Amino acid sequence: MLELWDKAITSIQNRMKSQNFDIWLRPIECTSIADSTVTLRVPNRFFQDYIDANYLSIIRDQLHELTGEDFAIDFLISEPSADSPTDVRKTPQPAPAQPRQTGILAGQLNPRYRFESFVVGPSNQLAHAASMAVCSVTGRKYNPLFIYGGVGLGKTHLVHAIGHQIHAEHPEMNIFYVSSEQFMNEFISCVRNQRQHDFQHRYRHDCDVLLMDDIQFIAGKDRTQDEFFHTFNSLYDQHKQIVVTCDKYPQEIDNLEERLRSRFQWGLIADIQAPELETRVAIVKKKAEAEHIPLPDDVAFFLAENIRSNVRELEGSLIRLAAQASIEGRSIELDFARHVLRTVFNLSSPRATIEDVQRAVCAYFNLRAGDLRGKSRQRSVTLPRMVGMYLCRTGLGASLPEIGERFGGRDHTTVMNACRKIERLAEADLAVRSAVDTLRRKLAI
Ligand code: ADP
Ligand code: MG
Repeated sequence: MLELWDKAITSIQNRMKSQNFDIWLRPIECTSIADSTVTLRVPNRFFQDYIDANYLSIIRDQLHELTGEDFAIDFLISEPSADSPTDVRKTPQPAPAQPRQTGILAGQLNPRYRFESFVVGPSNQLAHAASMAVCSVTGRKYNPLFIYGGVGLGKTHLVHAIGHQIHAEHPEMNIFYVSSEQFMNEFISCVRNQRQHDFQHRYRHDCDVLLMDDIQFIAGKDRTQDEFFHTFNSLYDQHKQIVVTCDKYPQEIDNLEERLRSRFQWGLIADIQAPELETRVAIVKKKAEAEHIPLPDDVAFFLAENIRSNVRELEGSLIRLAAQASIEGRSIELDFARHVLRTVFNLSSPRATIEDVQRAVCAYFNLRAGDLRGKSRQRSVTLPRMVGMYLCRTGLGASLPEIGERFGGRDHTTVMNACRKIERLAEADLAVRSAVDTLRRKLAI
């Protein structure tokens, strides 16, 4: 019966990276197969968790494929020193005797998200350069690297690229890519099973590079924030690289502990803004090339002009266009693209610009365009100015520095405070709410 295990494991081996296989699957010993249950012996509990989270379904599927039967999997743990495993786990400090594994690449890295496939333009130059720097001088400069920007602008892409690059250059390093939501779930599950120590050991001791995506999710989750804070400190003290992404600037994340906020500012904060037209064209062309979609220049421009603030949507439209073209057995041309994407664009693309917003605000409040950029501190001017900034932020997704620049060279914190203020006023003050609503409708944002 154990032959079944050999067969299963051999065909899994053929489908995965040999390094991962050697680290995770080769050490497993199958001790029995009986009553539709396969018992596997693994070196320790951390190992079991890792198999559980990452390889269990592959193993089950393979067994099913070979036999047509569904197997349950039981684990047997052979701790290196069998003395008293429970006591070991209760010790607050990591057990020093435990051998340190190397070359772990934990978390799913998308193989397509690499530096080579990332298009650099003025909107993401800093974030890109900082990400590259982090790979070559691991652990010192730019720690932590904090990348922030709106949805679909390439944060995850860059972080995966960092993971791939460091892994290629330093295969011995343990790289952990995790979203803060996964970090939280994993933490909760360890607390529930009284295995905090394993969790801490994994993140503070095993990890060489921590890539934490979408940190905004831990806002308001006190225990997870606390755990992350200690993880951060431990890694930082060991000069381990930390990269964090977020959809907001640290000061803008509500319900984030001050001590975390300030730590995010110890290193480098790099923003990604919505790409400008040329960058969008380059991105859509690169994507078409990668997917072998023949895309004429005028169609590339058409897509890039109509989708301004989200690269994911840009890619989505290209794929949709390609799918439709293949269904209809025709090539992609401008008229065809217009026809296929007509409804999509009307629905989802904000066509207004910062200038449009400023013009509409001036018309509504009866001001001159220069007033919004000027120095006046009178409420009759400051209120419309703040409304304009707020609309640009929430309606167009423009970045804080860009808005500041376009409203008379103001600092990004001024813009942020303005947005907060209008948010509050819109709830309390009917006149402000109605101004915001009317302008939104008028601008279709
Ligand atoms: P975010 O994490 O910021 O929400 P993602 O990294 O998931 O965004 O990016 C969304 C999609 O857009 C991905 O498919 C990504 O490859 C692509 N993308 C974003 N920016 C770029 C860029 N500068 N060059 C190439 N592709 C990009
Ligand atoms: Mg992302």
